[in-house]
Amino acid sequence: MNNKILFNKKLIQRYDYAGPRYTSYPTAKQFSTDYNDADYKNWVEASNEDPIPAELSLYLHIPFCDTICYYCGCSKIVTKDRSKATPYIALLQQEIALQGQLFANDRETTQIHWGGGTPTFLKDDEIAELMNSLHQHFHINTEKGEFGIEVDPRTVNKKRIQHLRQLGFNRISFGVQDFNTNVQQAVNRVQKTEQIMEVIQAARDNQFESINIDLMYGLPEQTPETFEHSLDAVITASPDRLAVYNYAHMPEMFKPQRRINAAALPSPQQKLAILQLTIEKLQQAGYVYIGMDHFAKPTDDLVIAQQNGSLHRNFQGYSTHANCDIVAMGITAISRIGDNYSQNVRTIDEYKSRLKDNRLTIFRGIELEPDDVLRREIITQLMCNNFLDIKKLEQKWGIEFIGYFKDTLSKLHEMADDELITLTPEIIRITAKGRLLVRSICMQFDRYLKAEKTQQAYSRII
Ligand code: SF4
Repeated sequence: MNNKILFNKKLIQRYDYAGPRYTSYPTAKQFSTDYNDADYKNWVEASNEDPIPAELSLYLHIPFCDTICYYCGCSKIVTKDRSKATPYIALLQQEIALQGQLFANDRETTQIHWGGGTPTFLKDDEIAELMNSLHQHFHINTEKGEFGIEVDPRTVNKKRIQHLRQLGFNRISFGVQDFNTNVQQAVNRVQKTEQIMEVIQAARDNQFESINIDLMYGLPEQTPETFEHSLDAVITASPDRLAVYNYAHMPEMFKPQRRINAAALPSPQQKLAILQLTIEKLQQAGYVYIGMDHFAKPTDDLVIAQQNGSLHRNFQGYSTHANCDIVAMGITAISRIGDNYSQNVRTIDEYKSRLKDNRLTIFRGIELEPDDVLRREIITQLMCNNFLDIKKLEQKWGIEFIGYFKDTLSKLHEMADDELITLTPEIIRITAKGRLLVRSICMQFDRYLKAEKTQQAYSRII
């Protein structure tokens, strides 16, 4: 497969729609409060009865952060008081026990991911305690599992990194965003380059199997020149994977962003220049573009999975674990069991009140209809493989593509005329020019988005 991307300014400007990132389809906006914990239990029971039940992927949400980053759009609780986490850990352990007893004993866990917030807000013994709970209530395959944690470099040192490795984590993701001090100050996330490099080196010394760094472009005080230095630093650090996210300034939706000086944001032209530079530099440095902000070294599992058609997409982004059921625990966490999604309550008070009655903490969700599953399959294939085999799809689903998607065809033809895709009766293939715009292509298959009058709740692509 040709993984190159071509940067085409005109096309990017024309197709830069605001749209979902499709870590799920349908997106969380479609979840309904009619869905409850009884529905969830039924789905888990049904999944236990499958001839070959899916492996499990566990997600733990740790919502605490020490300081606020002004660009933040996440659900988090900002406090300097470490003791605030203690009651939450006890509740999380209760949820782990409740969830664990729903799944048949022979169902293996092959993936764990801790996200936030800041998982490393917790103390070492608290992280160990939660890891023990997971081992106690789930059957975790320590031989072949991928166990990842998101780390704020400001919260760790060499010793803590070693401790995480000893607990079984073998994948680590560092939130860096930018190495430039002015940019860091403008977003209230100040971290020294030496400290970042030291903990990345510690992860390497402790044989983490995969190291990821997150960067962000479009932040205040960034210019192509400053970001080039950050890219140089990241290339020197040589992570296995890199995510370069677009900062979407939406202060009306995300309160912390109101503290960002809008006048210091790069102009749309500068943002495009930063993006172009990023792509060119990372490709020159040998990174492969996976899709949707993600790059990886050619030897990385994600690249190999993309080449052999087994790449998948879920709430943590791209994944090699296509068939896992996702059991997500902690406030706001979203699970996926079979063909349904469910989300936990949003506040610690609600979480506590549910668990006090020994109840699961789900407050909304969705059971997918066949049409949802079909469209999810199309979006996943386009996002992961960069093509859609129309003939295979027609055979599998017993549909005639042209008839089923007649409302979408004129837009697809327009995209084909603009060389974002090639379109034949057999296949849709995303071109090198279209790869950055995969989200706009996928949006054509989103039934719910078409029904919506506005897409203001979503960020733009670039
Ligand atoms: S960006 Fe991450 S570390 Fe910063 S406030 Fe948001 S969740 Fe916390």
